[in-house]
Amino acid sequence: MATIKISKNNLYHNLNQLALKTGDKSKIAAVLKDNAYGHGIEIMAKLVSDYGITEAVVINNNEADKISHHFQNILILNDTPTEQPNYSYAIGDLQTLKNYRGNAKIELKVDTGMHRNGIEMEQLIQALEIIKQNKLNLYGVFTHFRSADELSSEFAWQVKNFTEVKQTVRTFGFCPRFHSFNSASVLRAKEFNEDIARVGIALYGYNELPQTFDEIKLKPVLSLWAKRTSTRALKKGQRVGYGGIYRAPKDMIVSTYSVGYGDGLFRGNSNKPLQTAQNLPILGRVSMDFISLEGDSEEVCIFNDAQKVANHFNTISYEITTALKESVKRIIV
Ligand SMILES: *Cc1c(COP(=O)(O)O)cnc(C)c1O
Repeated sequence: MATIKISKNNLYHNLNQLALKTGDKSKIAAVLKDNAYGHGIEIMAKLVSDYGITEAVVINNNEADKISHHFQNILILNDTPTEQPNYSYAIGDLQTLKNYRGNAKIELKVDTGMHRNGIEMEQLIQALEIIKQNKLNLYGVFTHFRSADELSSEFAWQVKNFTEVKQTVRTFGFCPRFHSFNSASVLRAKEFNEDIARVGIALYGYNELPQTFDEIKLKPVLSLWAKRTSTRALKKGQRVGYGGIYRAPKDMIVSTYSVGYGDGLFRGNSNKPLQTAQNLPILGRVSMDFISLEGDSEEVCIFNDAQKVANHFNTISYEITTALKESVKRIIV
């Protein structure tokens, strides 16, 4: 059976570092969307709330309902508003805004340059007029940065755009909360003066910024483990797994461990195998529920640093942890 171990110490270390940046832990909104980036939404909600975090961000009502009792407010990025008092809803287009007639807390998402979703800056006044006219409950105004994790002037450009947005909103007489920072922005910025920062990946221990920015040391929270299910002594030349891709170069002890792509471990290319945390290459193909490794340890750590796995598979740490299935058992260590 595969197990995900969640390190409470590492999580609290990361939160301490982030709180130094935001000035206070009350300014950290824990982004727990997509099953807390694969870490397990319920476990992570409890841990961050025990630490003293009161704000969360999720993708839909279903996720919010699982963790509702832990937080003062939960921002829901993509679902139909309900009037649950501790939920607020991102609204990012004029049509949805026009059609909405309820009393839910809404947070207007403004597009300051990412061009993915959010109302355009040219539509801001129109949006604010609709909000005023329909007496909507404007709880927040926010934006999202497209390249906070890159060395360029684009970050500064979006920050400047958002400053304009804030001024316009205030001119209308609204005083919602404002937020724009994600992990990369918090890690790179010299100062922080917004109401909350929406922190995802940094919470889980990863810093996707280029080295130049790298000053804060974060620690990965998650590790993936598998138990031994069987062991055999292979003779030189015998082959392992589907397709018999791996051929034993010598007589060797090989064991099967219960983790596979069914758990969310990438299958990848077996000619370029992933190595476990102890540098054991996976032998042959990854199966749906099993892999083979040399040796006979009872339990092995498949990885304890998703960044390394991400480098191996040419992707980002987000994708590696988010791929881990909800069905994998999670425990706090
Ligand atoms: C996912 C998300 C975040 C968190 O981003 P990280 O890079 O993981 O910190 C913040 N804001 C919004 C709107 C998001 O969708």
